Amino acid sequence: MQGEGVYAGTPSVFLRTYYCNLTCAWCDTKYTWLDQSNAQAGIHYQKMNVREVLEKLTDYGCRHLVVTGGEPLLHQHILSSLFSGLKRLDFFIEVETNGTVVPSVEMVGLVDCFNVSPKISNSLVQKTVRIRRTAVKAFVRSGKAWFKFVICEPNDIVEVEELISAYNLPRERVLLMPEGTDAETVSARGRWLVEICKQRSFRFAPRLHILLFGNRRGT
Ligand code: SF4
Repeated sequence: MQGEGVYAGTPSVFLRTYYCNLTCAWCDTKYTWLDQSNAQAGIHYQKMNVREVLEKLTDYGCRHLVVTGGEPLLHQHILSSLFSGLKRLDFFIEVETNGTVVPSVEMVGLVDCFNVSPKISNSLVQKTVRIRRTAVKAFVRSGKAWFKFVICEPNDIVEVEELISAYNLPRERVLLMPEGTDAETVSARGRWLVEICKQRSFRFAPRLHILLFGNRRGT
């Protein structure tokens, strides 16, 4: 089940890609960064070709795909060929991205929804690395993007508003999500964040998988 974003609650099949070009302080999938000296194929990740991935995804019988990472668009050339096959099978394709990689024309055509999560300073990543103007503009132009911000404290909203103004982000497509990898933190932050969402007309984004299962892989 999709736990985040505008399709939270939707029965989904997940494809997680490895590698990321950012190093967010609170990243809950650090294992995707892959320290090559420790990561072992078949144990920490599976090496599969496009045909094998397509067959595996089809087997689940669910037609709502969420592609997540790491940063999936680092592999967009390979993903395009996978997505072409999946669209022929009527899949709805949602891609989660940190918004730093310009999506190709082909990718924009194939993907139904981009869940773009631009990082703010609470990620502790340098601004020039986490905010890429050309990429953010391309997602806005695609008309298929929702912008989800991870919020740690009320003052984070100032930065979100600055980004909305700087990049002309469609306000009605902005979601605010409380940071946290346990139900208590997500709920506590969610309680004041939901008030901010009401005041400023943003969507509130839950972290359903954390609320239901905690920080466990495979949920
Ligand atoms: S962009 Fe996502 S996967 Fe990459 S470090 Fe940040 S939170 Fe982790």
